[in-house]
Amino acid sequence: MCGIIGYCGPLDAQTVLLNGLTQLEYRGYDSAGIALFDENSKIHFIKKVGKVAALRKVCEEDPIVSHCGIGHTRWATHGGVTSENAHPHVAGKVTMIHNGIIENYKELKEYLQKKGFVFQSETDTEVVAQLLEFHYNECHNMLEAVGRVLRRIEGSYAFGIICADYPNALIAARKDSPLIIGCGEGENFIAS
Ligand code: GLU
Repeated sequence: MCGIIGYCGPLDAQTVLLNGLTQLEYRGYDSAGIALFDENSKIHFIKKVGKVAALRKVCEEDPIVSHCGIGHTRWATHGGVTSENAHPHVAGKVTMIHNGIIENYKELKEYLQKKGFVFQSETDTEVVAQLLEFHYNECHNMLEAVGRVLRRIEGSYAFGIICADYPNALIAARKDSPLIIGCGEGENFIAS
């Protein structure tokens, strides 16, 4: 088991995400990462093999002022324990995290490779990120693109997604993997 946390609101998102990942550590994991919108709506991501404390150290050396982001602890199922395979995964304008397993990732990867997509990792998750980028380029609407992807993938998933064209918005989807949305006053959370 592994973890997902996402935050959108007035607090410092980097701190909320790192504290959330620390609380999820008891489940076990092999690597961790976060992605954040900065004040100019640019997405930054940081991922590290090993403990959340190591990720925290790197983040705190060069903090990003942010009010929206996603964080992940990974328990590798597809691909080794490397920083390339750690989440978030980035494909064009899409940055995403995933807990679970995509069963038809091989067919989808071949489909995308035939279209010229190049992969940076061995994960099933990156296949979803690239597929989402592919459908987003087709329809230019992220919610519609997520719907198209969900209709094509098989398996279990909890996703946290951010998109460069939708600053400070979090998109979440789940099937057969735990994920809840916490709706606050002026702030919202997702967590597995
Ligand atoms: N299947 C994904 C991977 O291997 C997600 C694993 C997880 O749930 O942390 O990267």
